[in-house]
Amino acid sequence: MASTPQETLANLLSEDRTFPPSPEFAAQANVTAAAYEKAAVDRLAFWEDQARRLDWSKDWDRVLDWDDPPFAKWFTGGELNVAANCLDRHVDAGLGDRVAIHFEGEPGDSRAVTYAELLDEVKRAANTLTDLGVGAGDRVVIYMPMIPEAAVAMLACARIGAPHSVVFGGFSVDALSSRIDDAGAKLVICADGGFRKGKPLALKPTVDASLERCPSVEKVLVVTRTGQDVEWTDKDVRWEETVGKASNEHAAQAFDAEHPLFILYTSGTTGKPKGILHTSGGYLTQASYTHHAVFDLKPESDVYWCTADIGWVTGHSYIVYGPMSNGATQVMYEGTPDTPHTGRLWEIVEKYKVTTLYTAPTAIRTFMKWGDDVPARYDLSSLRLLGSVGEPINPEAWVWYREHIGGGKCPVVDTWWQTETGAIMVSPLPGVTSTKPGSAQRPLPGINVDVVDERAESVPDGGGGYLAIREPWPSMLRTIWGDDERFIDTYWSRFGGLYFAGDGAKKDDDGDLWLLGRVDDIMLVSGHNISTTEVESALVSHETVAEAAVVGASDPVTGQGIVAFVILRGGRDSSPEHLAELRKHVANTLGPIAKPRQVIVVAELPKTRSGKIMRRLLRDIAEDREIGDVTTLADSAVMSRIKVGLNSGK
Ligand code: ATP
Ligand code: MG
Repeated sequence: MASTPQETLANLLSEDRTFPPSPEFAAQANVTAAAYEKAAVDRLAFWEDQARRLDWSKDWDRVLDWDDPPFAKWFTGGELNVAANCLDRHVDAGLGDRVAIHFEGEPGDSRAVTYAELLDEVKRAANTLTDLGVGAGDRVVIYMPMIPEAAVAMLACARIGAPHSVVFGGFSVDALSSRIDDAGAKLVICADGGFRKGKPLALKPTVDASLERCPSVEKVLVVTRTGQDVEWTDKDVRWEETVGKASNEHAAQAFDAEHPLFILYTSGTTGKPKGILHTSGGYLTQASYTHHAVFDLKPESDVYWCTADIGWVTGHSYIVYGPMSNGATQVMYEGTPDTPHTGRLWEIVEKYKVTTLYTAPTAIRTFMKWGDDVPARYDLSSLRLLGSVGEPINPEAWVWYREHIGGGKCPVVDTWWQTETGAIMVSPLPGVTSTKPGSAQRPLPGINVDVVDERAESVPDGGGGYLAIREPWPSMLRTIWGDDERFIDTYWSRFGGLYFAGDGAKKDDDGDLWLLGRVDDIMLVSGHNISTTEVESALVSHETVAEAAVVGASDPVTGQGIVAFVILRGGRDSSPEHLAELRKHVANTLGPIAKPRQVIVVAELPKTRSGKIMRRLLRDIAEDREIGDVTTLADSAVMSRIKVGLNSGK
């Protein structure tokens, strides 16, 4: 059961390394400390300035309408077309020949798509959607591999005002059909399949099976990617025969700033997925500004690469809408990082001279496990900025990332945000902030994030509690699709008027923020609230541990006992003596209160498709219970393999 922090979270980990930006980086940075001051003077005027980054067909009357909280409206009365802001205006400005996407397929095929070509394809896709009967307000589900057509499909929907709902390519029939059904989608856009781990992985059969349960779907638009044999039904239309032949004349119509842009179901780390609704003007303003500020994007010279999948919010805001609204050149990679070899990502960085890399802690820990010698074989000197998102990053992983990928010279930005927030909320500014390994540090200019106690009061520096957001922000979710009650209950009822993020956090003595994992995962040991993140970071700081996941299992004596699941680095011994040493290492690092009751060696950990550890399933094992819902796991068989491994004493 989830523990409830009664007082504050214990503050166990201490980390005092800091890395100020180099004077050269600071001197050329897009955003300086003045942004914080400006936003502090007049927050709404600050966001109004950022909205001017975009082209509006009609100006807004009001920056923020918060008359009926928690239902916010931003830039009311304003009108814009999101896709035209991502494409047409760059082409109109003479930048049509700039590469928008350097696509790298897993089998090694590659192609460059310019802004002019992307616009052409989006216009043709928009005409096709209209021909298929999709109009403004109709929902479209996108179920695709990481290929340029996925971005085309999203932008074509945006262009005609049809909210899209992207579902991870690879989710099961259950996951896909429940999302199609909840959104009431009229059209599904998919591919025959995609390449993953060296093989074509079929997607279309999952769509076919889902449609048996989804009467709302009238047509399925199918891109040919792998060319594998797939069944064909009378609802199916081929992309090549429709989009491929459609007219490339299409005038973008402007929509209201609050017109729905997309619904995205959260990855389901904690329970039944929620359809998070985002709208147009405020969302694009914050996606665009944060991409410019946090990644310091220089569109003329940077080659940006975010390794996320478009099925995750990071792919929405930092592959499609943020970068494209800023005219970025980016890399898009279809496959897995170890296909055909563990140096694949670094080969791609070298090939395209990538300057900016945005990835997740789970990937960084995997690279560490594969060894320092792998990235060392490639020329990574083009990199100038590194980002992290998705989970708290362990300080050791942060330092490794900076040293072995960033050559000790790139600022590392640890960005905290959620599907619900739509865009980055807490992050260093790379030209301003002295970064600290493991800390997301400060709310961005114009953002009011705090750490509060049980009574919703701000905790002092040095204290811990819950992450909360005090004021509405432009890219905030507007509701949960079809369920305003659940929207209010989930996010707004706990701290009366504040947004409850569901994450534990602490403030250090400088007031910098450290994320401590999900509130549901916080452990209560002998009356102390202890965060999973801190114990995991302590384990990962031991040279033999590649990855760790920690849970609190009910304990007759202490309330909860800490059970740690660890993956050891290649070939390390899992003798009882070694496990005892790991327990002692945690006690030495964090104090005896945090010493795990048990350390269990496993070969893999249960993760969502976006790479987050699903601790609730490990808690089921630690407490010897039936394992809960596994439908959003990247690999649904992993739990049975872990159980078999434990029972055979491995
Ligand atoms: P669900 O809400 O369905 O359980 P989810 O929370 O995994 O799914 P996302 O919206 O993709 O879905 O993830 C947001 C969460 O990821 C945050 O609430 C936080 O727990 C974690 N997170 C993201 N970035 C960071 C970061 N930089 N540091 C710490 N935690 C992070
Ligand atoms: Mg969440």
